[in-house]
Amino acid sequence: MKKFFALIIAALLLVTTSPQTFAQDEAELTASIEEFYSSLPEAKGNYKSSQRPILIEGAMNIETDIFVKALKNPVAYRELNYLFVAGTYKNYPVVVVRTEIGLANAAASTALAIEKFNPVAVINQGTAGGHDSALKVGDIVIGGQSIGLSAVKIDYSNEGAGIDVTQQEMRGTYSYDEATKIFQPFTEYHADTTLFNIAFAVANKHENFNVISGTIGTSDTWLNCVDYINFLHEKYGSSCEEMETNAAAQICHTAGIPFIGIRVISNSALTGENFDVSSAKVAQNFVLLVVEDYIHKILKK
Ligand code: SAH
Repeated sequence: MKKFFALIIAALLLVTTSPQTFAQDEAELTASIEEFYSSLPEAKGNYKSSQRPILIEGAMNIETDIFVKALKNPVAYRELNYLFVAGTYKNYPVVVVRTEIGLANAAASTALAIEKFNPVAVINQGTAGGHDSALKVGDIVIGGQSIGLSAVKIDYSNEGAGIDVTQQEMRGTYSYDEATKIFQPFTEYHADTTLFNIAFAVANKHENFNVISGTIGTSDTWLNCVDYINFLHEKYGSSCEEMETNAAAQICHTAGIPFIGIRVISNSALTGENFDVSSAKVAQNFVLLVVEDYIHKILKK
């Protein structure tokens, strides 16, 4: 009998903590944000603003809702089915774009936003997986730089030699180089110094956020293999991995627009923590403070 109850309790625990239950919660949350987004008034005509807006990017609903709710007089623009919401924050124009997931979407929506809104600066933010065992869910990485984790050349090996992707060299991604006037490969993209310093000043002022500066690694792959994560961390110094930052940084580099990536750890194969939806709020709340300081210290000076 005891065994029977123990089995039932174990089964209950499994159900309440299983990823499927979690995914359902996330789906419900996403759907309710979607409903809120569809209630926003649609923009009529082209965007007009005497001041160039700040563009804030997030891939998913759970990474953009706090910003959109913080906007005054929000209006929705849709371009190629990407959603952009324009309004003001602290009396300064701000546009939030839901980039959708992955490099191609991040690049496309960033390029569209640059054409449509002519932003003064771009902040890409959201969730990420830890590449540093010292980082826990809820910690923030201010990207001093970003790298393309798949922008590598893997060494030749003979047929039958087995697979060893650790024999690789970073090649980088192509963006416009102002000095040579052609597209060149860049192995990393650096954050704009002003945005970086402001983000750090915010981190120092608000000790409730646990913040480090580091390297954001981007690819369309979700890595869960601890040895490969450790390899990337040691070889390239990646602090975390996600799927958008480097692609958005690449487009901003080509367009000559100040950029920074800011990520919250939402999961980590190194610490065994699973994806935590609520971590997305931490990044948004931190970025709102960065945006506020950027407006007051730089844009409205
Ligand atoms: N709930 C979704 C999660 C999307 S995962 C699902 O079930 O599929 C991909 C998104 O999360 C990307 O936008 C990426 O930037 C971010 N992300 C968070 N942790 C990641 C990780 N460990 N590896 C890659 N992308 C990660």
